[in-house]
Amino acid sequence: MTLKRLELSGFKSFPKKTTLEFSGPITAIVGPNGSGKSNIVEAIRFVLGEQKMKSLRGKSGADLIFKGSKSIPRQNRASVSIIFDNTKKAFSGGEGLAYGGKLDLDYDEIIIKREVHRDGVNHYFINNTEVRLKDILEVLSGVNIGSSGHHIISQGETDRILNVSPRERKDMIEDALGLKVYKYKLKESERKLDRTNQNMKEAQSLRREIAPHIKYLKNQVEKIEKAENMRKELETLYKDYLKREDEYTGREGKALEREERQLREELDKVNQGLGQEISQEEESREKSAYALELETTEQKLRELRTTRDELSRSLGRIEGMIEIEEKNRGAQEQKARKTTVSISIDELTAFVDDLNKNIDEALAKGSVEEITPILSSIKKLVSQFIPKRLEGSEGEVSEVRNQEIEEMTSKRDAILTEINKFENEEKKLQEKAFELKHAIEKEKQDERKQDQLRFELMMKKRDLESKNDLLDVRKQNALKTKTDFEEELEEAKVLIGSHILSYEAVEITDEDQSRTQQEKRRKKLERLKIKLEDAGAAGGSDTLKEYEEATQRDQFLTREIQDLEKSVTSLETIMKELQEKINSEFKDGIEEINIQFEEFFQTIFGGGTASLAIIAQQKRKRGESEIESLDLTQDDSQSESEEELAPSDLSREESREVEEGIEINVSLPRKRAKDLHALSGGERSLTSIALLFAMTQVNPPPFLVLDETDAALDEANSRRYGDMLEKLAKHSDLVVVTHNRETMSRVNVLYGVTIGADGASKLLSVKFDEAVAIAK
Ligand code: ATP
Repeated sequence: MTLKRLELSGFKSFPKKTTLEFSGPITAIVGPNGSGKSNIVEAIRFVLGEQKMKSLRGKSGADLIFKGSKSIPRQNRASVSIIFDNTKKAFSGGEGLAYGGKLDLDYDEIIIKREVHRDGVNHYFINNTEVRLKDILEVLSGVNIGSSGHHIISQGETDRILNVSPRERKDMIEDALGLKVYKYKLKESERKLDRTNQNMKEAQSLRREIAPHIKYLKNQVEKIEKAENMRKELETLYKDYLKREDEYTGREGKALEREERQLREELDKVNQGLGQEISQEEESREKSAYALELETTEQKLRELRTTRDELSRSLGRIEGMIEIEEKNRGAQEQKARKTTVSISIDELTAFVDDLNKNIDEALAKGSVEEITPILSSIKKLVSQFIPKRLEGSEGEVSEVRNQEIEEMTSKRDAILTEINKFENEEKKLQEKAFELKHAIEKEKQDERKQDQLRFELMMKKRDLESKNDLLDVRKQNALKTKTDFEEELEEAKVLIGSHILSYEAVEITDEDQSRTQQEKRRKKLERLKIKLEDAGAAGGSDTLKEYEEATQRDQFLTREIQDLEKSVTSLETIMKELQEKINSEFKDGIEEINIQFEEFFQTIFGGGTASLAIIAQQKRKRGESEIESLDLTQDDSQSESEEELAPSDLSREESREVEEGIEINVSLPRKRAKDLHALSGGERSLTSIALLFAMTQVNPPPFLVLDETDAALDEANSRRYGDMLEKLAKHSDLVVVTHNRETMSRVNVLYGVTIGADGASKLLSVKFDEAVAIAK
């Protein structure tokens, strides 16, 4: 890769577009003081991304733009382009550059352009694509054009590398060694690590922040799940319960209807029976005809008996009187018997005929009542037979007596007949009374039977009525059960949802119809309902969703933290590797530089020693001017102005941050002084040149710009300088600004710069002789 050309437009003293072609390894720019040579060097710094206005000898962006003159107006922007040959694809072939993939650098020419406007706004371009400054710096560091500017030595800054601090010197050397690209990567990784750590902290703190909420939600979700399970259990129980209850109420309703119908029928029957009984009872309550008749009969009987008794007494009296009369008559008869009477046969026959006649008559009669009077006539015939045969007073007396007896006897017979009649009558009445009593008894028996029947009907009625009462209670219960069931169903709909109605499809397989079991089921339901209520799972779906989201977020954060941890580990590994690479390459580089440094040093000074040493020093603090340092490479080396620290001091002060730096140790031939401060201006310049050249030798940059680096050299040193330039030009393109004739003699291309009255620098390609003339 080589430097091809530089194009300036509006930059400082170059208002017009000016192009410098670098067609050979060494290009020299010559011209009188103030003609604009250094402006060209600054243009190179500018286009390579220089940010320090001081290095561009300006205060603001406007100072970089052509100010204008009498004949040329001021410009509004300055632009500089630097063009590299990229046919060997040095730009695109860098190893893993930060801009990788972002920029297409697969061109034969790489044009880097920077513009500045009066308002100080800058624009950067790579092959006409606007890019960031960062991209420019990365692209350049990839081709070993570092930002420390060690490859551009401005006028009067030759010994800058001697003047800077060990830390800055180390920077310059790292840059020269091409370690900047690694440093970039290291910085980038550090930034990434910081960012990653920051992100990790944020993620962790977010996790911590949401953790209590997740815990709370988890708790809620667990409750909800528990409640959900309970609700499912409740649903199952409910369906079973409702189905059974439904079946029960249906069954019970039908049974009650049936029983009621039966009961009503039975009651109707009983009432009918009872009605009949009552009317019968009313009937029988009326006094029985038999009893009345019996009463009359008994009354008659009593009267009959009284009359008969009186007759019997009359009979007794008459019979007594008859007995007395008969006794008297007996006594008279006895007296008479002793008297003899004659009785004719006729009389006797008439008497016997009378007797027979009466006896026949009696025999013809059937009943005692009819026979009795006949017997009385016979007795009269018999009793009168004798007295009638007696003569005289006795006869008369006997006649009277007989008459009396006869009268009494007929009376007695009449009474007897009467008594007989009464006795017959009584007998009849007694028989009737007996029959009546019998009939009455039968009647009573019937009544008792009816009473019994009525009683039974009453009992049955009572039984049926109590059954009916019971049925009423059962009906009320059934109604309540039904109402309860309906209420329960409504509640179930609220608790479970309307799909609870599918309970109807539930099949009850067991035979258990008992209400006790059902009651147990209901109690279980109630307990579950209370538990469910206690669980308080309102707003379930929202919480579940929130929990899911929160968990997902937490999982996302966990994954992110894991990823970040991985990133941290890999970044730390990368950084460690980078640091190791930087350290080892830096150490190797220093060693190589030291070889070249001594060689150049000895070439220039004809002997002596020169070397670089890595030192550890306490980091410079704000406002601290003195730097304490410690040489880590050499024990007895001479430090520069910085005070050394013993390693023990360092360990004592280990809390103070330590950084590395580079110090320069030189020993001129034939001179005892080793202190850099003791060198003359020329010696300092030469030492610097030796070091800069050594640095560029080890890791040659694509180009090197030297602005009057040779200004302080005498003729002999100018020759040596010229030799060194030629040596350097083997690896890098050189752009030198010089007034030195010797230098001019070594270059390939010469540009003369002049400035006219219009204040505009002009560039012209010149020959060596012309150049010598212009330079003067
Ligand atoms: P020397 O040999 O003395 O070092 P030089 O050739 O390096 O001189 P420069 O320093 O490059 O000269 O140029 C300085 C000139 O550039 C001055 O004449 C200055 O007026 C001019 N100049 C600087 N900035 C501007 C600007 N913004 N507009 C116009 N002219 C400018």
